[in-house]
Amino acid sequence: MRILVANDDGIYSPGIAALARAATRFGEVRVVAPDVEQSAAGHSITAARPLTYKRTPVMEELGVEAYRVNGTPADCVALGMFQWERVDVVLSGINLGTNLGHGAWHSGTVAAARQAVLFGVRGIAFSTPVTGDEPDFEALEPHVTSVLDCLLPKDSLELLNVNIPRHPRGMRWTRLAIKHYDGKVVPAQDPMGRQHYWFTVVPIEETEGETDLWAVQYGYTSMTPLLIDVTAHEGLEALRRAAPLEEFDEGPPERPPEPVEEDES
Ligand code: MN
Repeated sequence: MRILVANDDGIYSPGIAALARAATRFGEVRVVAPDVEQSAAGHSITAARPLTYKRTPVMEELGVEAYRVNGTPADCVALGMFQWERVDVVLSGINLGTNLGHGAWHSGTVAAARQAVLFGVRGIAFSTPVTGDEPDFEALEPHVTSVLDCLLPKDSLELLNVNIPRHPRGMRWTRLAIKHYDGKVVPAQDPMGRQHYWFTVVPIEETEGETDLWAVQYGYTSMTPLLIDVTAHEGLEALRRAAPLEEFDEGPPERPPEPVEEDES
């Protein structure tokens, strides 16, 4: 099995070394990751300048080739899959900090896994909380292995968001905690007295059972299958019933379709 490992914390993060080490038990591993931290980059891509990469000898003792890219997590997966053919699965992380609920939208860690799915390959994102001290990645490694033992044989699961608490006492299948948005704008002043703002995501205190946030709060490893298709299918059907427009089965349109312009947004 060919396993591409990426992240959003950058190639020098201890989290990606831990994930690469765990992955070597399951197949041939290659690391392609951003040269600097790209946390909260979401699914952005670098379209206005070229991408380059450099071999980086950070995981030689694992026998793993590693490359750092001057781009985003999604760029790293695209470039990694282009340069290394027949990748079977992309693993992303282990992120320093959880990616729970709406955080999955902002997360470069989740985006790297999602990018794999866009290219037709499975993607699994891993994150762990940071509270004070750096996570003990050596202690987490058997739990990462358990997750991979569980998930890798299930090839119907394309995109998974996994959050591993500090001392896991089991694993749970969960859904995203999306009842409240946990993004907050926090005003402050710089040392010169000028107003500025931090936009940050802070943990929601209370949550419903069986969500990812709930699982991690109660010490379980949370495994959430995610969809690529964010179409509101029920809403679409309701709109088609309530406000019927020209339907596709009425035959081909008289004019040829206009090209859809690709922009960089
Ligand atoms: Mn990160």
